[in-house]
Amino acid sequence: MPAQRPHYVEIAAKSVLNRVRGMPFEWSINPYRGCYHACVFCYARQTHTFLERDGITEWGSTIFVKLNAAQVLRRELAEPSWRGEEVALGTATDPYQPAEGTYRITRAILVELARAAGVSVCFSIPTIEVDLARSIEPTVAPPAQRLRALETLATAGVRAGVAIAPVLPGLTDSVEQLRAVYRAAHGAGASFAWTGVLHLEEVARESYFSFLQEHQPELVQRYEQLYGTKYAPKAYAAEIDKRARSARAGIQFEPPPTIEFEPSLVQLSLI
Ligand code: SF4
Repeated sequence: MPAQRPHYVEIAAKSVLNRVRGMPFEWSINPYRGCYHACVFCYARQTHTFLERDGITEWGSTIFVKLNAAQVLRRELAEPSWRGEEVALGTATDPYQPAEGTYRITRAILVELARAAGVSVCFSIPTIEVDLARSIEPTVAPPAQRLRALETLATAGVRAGVAIAPVLPGLTDSVEQLRAVYRAAHGAGASFAWTGVLHLEEVARESYFSFLQEHQPELVQRYEQLYGTKYAPKAYAAEIDKRARSARAGIQFEPPPTIEFEPSLVQLSLI
């Protein structure tokens, strides 16, 4: 947990739409770089090193704010070359972290996106176990609160769902644990839910192993075996796919009811 209020560095972005390869979306937008929550497993910590910042000590305490992001996005979406592909907002930062209360950049970006397309919202919920959630993502809203927000959006007709991610070996990966999240997501009206196994970029590796050594020392050896590289072995990922299929057996995710609303209401729904 960051010890004090973060230091915000206001910057002007030249562009905000980032091309993404190998993901189910083509572009990403990150209104901030750095994240107050400083989760122990956060792969995005690595991005701080691109700006010669320390991804361990500064990820939660030095946060870059792209002040002009919405204006730049409006220009980029108006380019004749823009083909209307899928954009994911907040792939390497929490776009609703505390800074958003002051800067309100994510809200402005959503208005720009909603003018051009529909929107869906994904909540990361690796576990619904309160104590475990508090230990791996100490300052993030508790799982029940995220589920309530999901329910509010789903009831309003916004397509919303859950990323059971990251799945943490030995901590959140049993069929029963996965099923508990699927059930909770379904109960809140989620339209989708998917799993993603932990991967450990260089900086996240350091942060996560230090968490293990302090809180789960009995798992250190197992993780050393699993994470010879930044990705878990294919066999483990396949095993999680199998467990996830078993965990969601009988749980059917449905699209939200169709409700006609003006784009401006999309913004209101998300606040
Ligand atoms: S909330 Fe997301 S971006 Fe922020 S530290 Fe946690 S995992 Fe990283």
